[in-house]
Amino acid sequence: MEVVRTVSAFTGALAAARRQGRDVGLVPTMGALHAGHRSLIDRAVAAHDHVAVSIFVNPLQFDRADDLDRYPRDLDADLAQCAEAGVATVFAPGVEEMYPRRPLTSVHVAGVSEPFEGATRPGHFDGVATVVAKLFSAAGTCAAYFGEKDFQQLVVVRRMASDLSMPVRVVACPTVRAPDGLALSSRNALLSDDERRAATVLWRSLRTGAGAVAEGEDRPDAVARVMAAVVAAEPLAELDYAAAVDAADLHVPASLSDVEPVRLLVAARLGQVRLIDNCDGRAMAGSGDGRRPAARRLVHGQGER
Ligand code: AMP
Repeated sequence: MEVVRTVSAFTGALAAARRQGRDVGLVPTMGALHAGHRSLIDRAVAAHDHVAVSIFVNPLQFDRADDLDRYPRDLDADLAQCAEAGVATVFAPGVEEMYPRRPLTSVHVAGVSEPFEGATRPGHFDGVATVVAKLFSAAGTCAAYFGEKDFQQLVVVRRMASDLSMPVRVVACPTVRAPDGLALSSRNALLSDDERRAATVLWRSLRTGAGAVAEGEDRPDAVARVMAAVVAAEPLAELDYAAAVDAADLHVPASLSDVEPVRLLVAARLGQVRLIDNCDGRAMAGSGDGRRPAARRLVHGQGER
C-alpha cells in the first residue's frame, strides 16, 4: 500500500493504475475509520482492481471550530485498517496541500443542499461539495463509494457529479449499525456512557416513523410528528429535525403515496454531540407487526468505535 501526501502524487498513482488497465475505486473519508467506513472499503476492494482511500478532515465543511478541533483523528490505526483491507493507495494530505491559499471557488449544489443539514450547518454542503469536487478532479475516472448514513450528502454529491459531468460513478452503500441500532459514526466516540445509551433514540424514532408509514400514514407531517415524539421522550436528546421526504430530491411531498422511495431523516443533539440518521421510509412495509424483519435487514455490521 502506498501512502501519498500530495495531490499530484495521488493523481499520478491513479493514472498509473488506469494505464495498467486497472479499474479504480475511491472511498473518500475523514478518517477515524470504523466498521461503517470499512464496509465501503470492502465493497470497493471487491469490485475494483485498485482502491484508493482518502483521509482528510476538511475544515471547509465544519461550521464550528470546536467541532473541527474535537473531531477524532488516528492516522496510524486508519493506515493499518486500509492495509488489512487491501487498499492500494491512501491519500492523506495536510490542510496546506489541499488549500495552499484561501479558495475563491466553491461548489454550491442548490436545492438539495439547502434544507435539513444545510439549514442547521451553514456552508456545510458547500464545503463538502468543494472538497469532493477537488478529490474527484484529482482522482480522475473512477467509482466513488459513499454511505447512505449521510443521505443528504449522497444526494448532493450525486447531483454535483452529474451536473458537472464528472467521470465518476457514485455508488451508495447501506448504513452499518451497532447491534442496538445506533448508526456507526466517528462522533459516537465523543458520547458519554449515558448519552451512548440514549443515542439509540434516533433509530427508535426512524423505526416508529417507518412503522407509521407501514400502517398507511401518508401525511409527511404526521410521520414527522411521531418520530419527533420518540425523541422528545428521551431526556438526554434534543431534536433538531425529523422528516419524511422524497429520497430523490429531499422535498417534502404533499402525500407520501405520491413518492417512491420515501426517506425518513432525523437529527438530534446528545449533549455536545450532534447525530444524524435516516432510513428507507418503506423499510417496514409488509413486515407483519411493522418492526422486526426490516430492523434486521437494516443491520449490516457489528463493530462499533
Ligand atoms: P466520514 O469519514 O464521516 O466523512 O465518512 C466517510 C464515508 O463513510 C461517507 O460516505 C459516510 O457516509 C460513510 N459512512 C460513515 N458512517 C457510516 C456507516 N455507519 N455506515 C455506512 N457508511 C458510513
